[in-house]
Amino acid sequence: KKNGKARWQLFEPRIDEAFRTRQRLIEDLRAAVEKGGLNVVYQPIISSKTMRVVSCEALCRWNHPELGVISPAIFIPLAEEIGIISGISRYVLKAATLECAKWPERIGVSVNLSAKDFHDDSVVGTVREALANSGLDPARLVVEVTETALLNNKLETAAKLAMIRAEGVRIALDDFGTGYSALSYLHRLPIDKIKIDRSFVSDIATNKHSLKLIAGIVGLCHSLGKSVTVEGIETFDQLSALLPEARPETLQGFLFGSALTANGIKTMSTAVWQFGAPPKPRSSQIS
Ligand code: C2E
Ligand code: MG
Ligand code: MG
Ligand code: MG
Repeated sequence: KKNGKARWQLFEPRIDEAFRTRQRLIEDLRAAVEKGGLNVVYQPIISSKTMRVVSCEALCRWNHPELGVISPAIFIPLAEEIGIISGISRYVLKAATLECAKWPERIGVSVNLSAKDFHDDSVVGTVREALANSGLDPARLVVEVTETALLNNKLETAAKLAMIRAEGVRIALDDFGTGYSALSYLHRLPIDKIKIDRSFVSDIATNKHSLKLIAGIVGLCHSLGKSVTVEGIETFDQLSALLPEARPETLQGFLFGSALTANGIKTMSTAVWQFGAPPKPRSSQIS
């Protein structure tokens, strides 16, 4: 009991400090969303056929004046919790469609929406507004949602996705394979594309079973008529293991580039990666 008391005295200031840090993050995040403290960067998505950039994923960044760049893995859940995610989605959709409209026509853009966006009635209107405001061809826009989004509020979410799809926007299922196994209803979801999570990629260069697993998933998605992106390709060895076994339409990962500014995507739009199919161990530099 004596120790217990002492312990509480010791931890109390820390709990207090943690609470205050959190409160401060919340206040700062609200301010950032309202006053333009967020920005968007774009990670290239490469065609496995042409080895050129065909699209990119819009990824939100929060540049905190004192703490530096804060990861969306931290501020997105916080924004969901305090009910301001729709403001972030509106901002990212607006910025990404405006930028994409300035790129060559064959380059599209993907925007992540959160599960919570589909609890909100405004999400469909937000997508329509961004398209109207930018004049972007809806066929160039992809909305990414995770399995969790599709499983919670199934009917409501599916109805909203169907409305977004009716605008000509395509829907991608993000981080596939990390949530509940969605296999039994994969063919019933209103989705066009599947993004296989990077956890399936990490050891494919060294583990035959991992390679067979990802190849099987790609094949399954194809047999359901979905196009496939493999995420998280970091090394040339992973790429050269993957391509003889599976042909996902598109590839994404640090091997091809991490997120760039909108102008960076424009510059990269002419690049061709110099590893063809079948891949030979050559340089992974952009020509
Ligand atoms: P995500 O949608 O799966 O996005 C891919 C994440 O993986 C990005 O992290 C990207 O930088 C990272 N990544 C890409 N290639 C590689 C690779 O080869 N290796 C490794 N280790 N990582 C790679 P980021 O930007 O930190 O975003 C994390 C997550 O935050 C995203 O995962 C997405 O779920 C969420 N997020 C980001 N921007 C937004 C947004 O605007 N709205 C919403 N709702 N969520 C967002
Ligand atoms: Mg995503
Ligand atoms: Mg993903
Ligand atoms: Mg992810």
